[in-house]
Amino acid sequence: MARAPRPQGGPTVRTRILAVLLALTALALALAGATAYLLTYDHVDDRIDADLSESAQELQTLGASGVDPVTGDPFSSAEEVVIAAIQLDVPARHEGVLGLRTGKRPLVSQQAVEVHLQDDPELVAAVTPLLTSQTAVLRTIGTSTTDYRVLVAPVAPVTASGDPAALVLAYDRNAEHAETQAVFRGYLLVALAALVVTGVVGWLLAGRLLRPIRVLARTAQQIGESDLSARIPESGNDDLTHLTRAFNGMLDRLEGSFESQRRLLDDVGHELRTPLTIVRGHLELMDTADPADAAETRVLALDELDRMHRLVDDLVTLATVGQPDFVRPAPVELGRLTDDVLDKARTLGERTWLVDSRTDARTMADAQRLTQAWLQLAANAVKFSAPGSVVAIGSRTTPDGARVRLWVRDEGVGIGPDDLERIFDRFARGEHDGERREGSGLGLAIVAAIAEGHGGEVTVESAPGRGSTFAVVVPVLPVPDAGPDPAPGRAVPPVGRTAPTARSAPTPELPPRTAPDREGPAT
Ligand code: ADP
Repeated sequence: MARAPRPQGGPTVRTRILAVLLALTALALALAGATAYLLTYDHVDDRIDADLSESAQELQTLGASGVDPVTGDPFSSAEEVVIAAIQLDVPARHEGVLGLRTGKRPLVSQQAVEVHLQDDPELVAAVTPLLTSQTAVLRTIGTSTTDYRVLVAPVAPVTASGDPAALVLAYDRNAEHAETQAVFRGYLLVALAALVVTGVVGWLLAGRLLRPIRVLARTAQQIGESDLSARIPESGNDDLTHLTRAFNGMLDRLEGSFESQRRLLDDVGHELRTPLTIVRGHLELMDTADPADAAETRVLALDELDRMHRLVDDLVTLATVGQPDFVRPAPVELGRLTDDVLDKARTLGERTWLVDSRTDARTMADAQRLTQAWLQLAANAVKFSAPGSVVAIGSRTTPDGARVRLWVRDEGVGIGPDDLERIFDRFARGEHDGERREGSGLGLAIVAAIAEGHGGEVTVESAPGRGSTFAVVVPVLPVPDAGPDPAPGRAVPPVGRTAPTARSAPTPELPPRTAPDREGPAT
C-alpha cells in the first residue's frame, strides 16, 4: 500500500497535535502539583506554629497556678516552673525541648526526644539572649544543622530576688517538610507516568482521527498519478466525513466533466471527419477540365462546409451548457412567446401550422433559450413530416399550476420504441423507414440541456407512422412584482437548421400580441 506523502521539512499535524496535548497536560499537572505543594507546605508551618502557641499557653497556665501538679508543692522559682513544664511536655515528632536558666547549662528532657536541641550550640547561642524577654518569642532560626521553628517562652522570677527562666520548644522544620517533599516526589513520578500515557494514547488517537486526511492525501496523489476513479471510503458522521464526502463529490464532478469532454472530443472528431472525407474525396476525383463537374463539386463542398459550420455552432452551444449564464431568467409572458414561436416556425416549411393551446401564464425564464428549444422541435417536426401535414405548437400550465408544457406536435414519421430511448443523446440519430435522415444528432441534446437549465425536462410521445409530440416542461417561477417588463421573447433561430449567415444575423423584435388563449388553426 502506498504511503501518504509526508510534508517536507516540517512537523506533521499529528506531531503538532501531540505536542500541544503534551504541553497542556504538563502545564495542568505542574500547576496542580505546585499549588498543592505550596498549600501543604504552608499547612505544615501553620500546624507547627499552632502547636508551639498552645505549648506557650500551657506554660502560662502552669506558672499562673503556682503549684507543681506532680508534687503538689508551690513553685519556689521560675526554674521549677520550667522543669515541671519539661516533665509534663510530651514532645511531638521532630520536636525538641530545652529549659534556659541564668548562668547555668540548659535543662534537657529526660523523655525520649527526637531532636536534641542542646547538641546544636548555634541554636543554644541564638536562644540564650531571649531568656530575659518579656513575652514569648516565635521565630525561625537557621543553623548549619537545620532550620528550626522556635518558641522561647520566658517565666518571670517567682520571688523578688529570683532569676528568670525560659522554656524553649523547637521543631526541626526541614524534617517536617521532608515528608511533604517525599509525597510530592511520588506525585512527580505519577505525573510523569500520566504524561507518558497521555502521549501514547494521544499519538494513537491523533493517528486514528487523522487517518482520513492521510487517505485523502494518498488518494489525491494517486489521482495525479493515474486516473480519476479512486474514491475515499466514507465512514462515521463527523467533520472529516463531511470533508471526505465533499472531496468525493468533487472527484465525481471532475471525473464526469473529464469523461464528457473526452466523449465530446471523440464525437466531434468522428462527426467532422465525415464531411472532410467527403469534400476531399470529391475534390480528388473532380475533373478540373470539366466545368460542369467543377460546379457540381463546388456545390457539394459548400454544402458539406455549411453542415460543418452548423455542427460547430451546435457544439459551441453545448459547450456553454452548465455555465452560469447558459440560462438567464427574466419575466416571460408565455402566451406572447407562443405567438412569436408560431410566427417564426411558419418559415421553416410548408405545413398546416396550428396552435393547440395557448397559456397566459407568466414565469421567470430565458425567453431566447425557450424559443431556441421550441423552434428546434418545430424544425424537427418539419424535417420528419410530409409537406402540407399538420404541425401544431401549444403551451399550457399543468393543473396544479406548478409547471408549464411547451410542445410541438406533428403527424410525421414518428419514432420507433428503440430510438425513443436514445434520441436525446448527443449525436444520436434515429432510423426512419430503414434509413437515416441528414442531421447532426445534436438538436434534441440542446433542447434537453435548455429544459434542464430551467429545472425542467423534455418529454416525447411518438408512434411510428402517426407522428410525435415533443414537449419542454419547465417550472412556473413567480415573477417579482417590481421586475422589469416581461421579455418580448427575443428569438434565437433553431440550432443547426438555418443557414449560418441567417443564424448570426440579429433577430428583430416581434410586435407584441394580446390575443387570448385560442384553439384551432392559426391565421
Ligand atoms: P438530428 O435531427 O439533427 O438528427 P436531433 O437531436 O434533433 O438530431 O434528433 C435526433 C433524432 O430524433 C433524429 O435523428 C430523429 O430520428 C429523431 N427525431 C427528432 N424529432 C423527431 C420528430 N419530430 N419526428 C420523428 N423523429 C424525430
